[in-house]
Amino acid sequence: MTLSASGRRLTDDEFRGELRRRALLVETGVAGIYGRSATFEAVMEGCIGAITSLAAGDGCVSMRFPPVLPRRELERLGYLQSFPHLAGTVFAFEGDAAEAARQLEQASRHEDWSGFQTMTDLVLTPAACYPVYPAVAAGGVLDEDGVTVDPGAAYVFRHEPSEQLTRMQMFHQRELVRIGRPERVREWRELWKGRLLAFLLDIGLDARLDVATDPFFGRGGRMLAINQREQELKYELSVPILGHESTAVASVNYHEDRFASLYGLTFADGSLAHTACLGVGIERLTLALMRRHGLSPDLWPRTVRDRLR
Ligand code: ZN
Repeated sequence: MTLSASGRRLTDDEFRGELRRRALLVETGVAGIYGRSATFEAVMEGCIGAITSLAAGDGCVSMRFPPVLPRRELERLGYLQSFPHLAGTVFAFEGDAAEAARQLEQASRHEDWSGFQTMTDLVLTPAACYPVYPAVAAGGVLDEDGVTVDPGAAYVFRHEPSEQLTRMQMFHQRELVRIGRPERVREWRELWKGRLLAFLLDIGLDARLDVATDPFFGRGGRMLAINQREQELKYELSVPILGHESTAVASVNYHEDRFASLYGLTFADGSLAHTACLGVGIERLTLALMRRHGLSPDLWPRTVRDRLR
């Protein structure tokens, strides 16, 4: 528990104030975009490593991608239908010297200079597993056992500016992706629901596992969410961070054959694979640990520090 000098539990505002005072999170002037101190980063690394340890022995194939995604993949995935409000795109200047001068003039007055910018082939990666599916598909038909891919902890972007510490625009998502026969993928999902819940409880967090839905856009999105909930395609693990409600720090997602049919992920017999992924929000998990155990990781219980070593 993060306590004040007098031993009282800090309020949300005091917790945020302490994070700022100790420069654990460095505010940048844009909501939801923070720098991180070495201490904060060390806890994040510990969390990332702990997930790696949980997966040890699973025979994961490692892949790492930069935090940008080919725009074509975002278009192919239907992201602009489900989450047009969250997407971040990359534009760049391709004009001549006169336009560069006009752009500079407007920019130096902090006016809108978007008229000088042209769409590029890139968008910001919204989910760390998205680059995995086309990469695996490019490798040809799947082995009978399928594959488990470890894309590490990637920076992901969601355009949802908020002053709330737990809703960052850019944060690390530690993902794992399972691609295989439907029953094997469902087994993997069950395995990880249990592993993640046990892990969160082990590090002292009051974790809960619930069926959940994605923040789909608009009226059509409500139907998608109802469908997702009825089929129990998404589970979230939540822990206390701020306020009275728990905040999701991890999700386990079953896509059935959605990504497999988009990308042609098939076995030698021609049948489609199923896929599932899990994602752990590393900054949220770090905040949850600091809220629970205090802002000085050196003083955390030995069992917690051992798990995050
Ligand atoms: Zn994913």
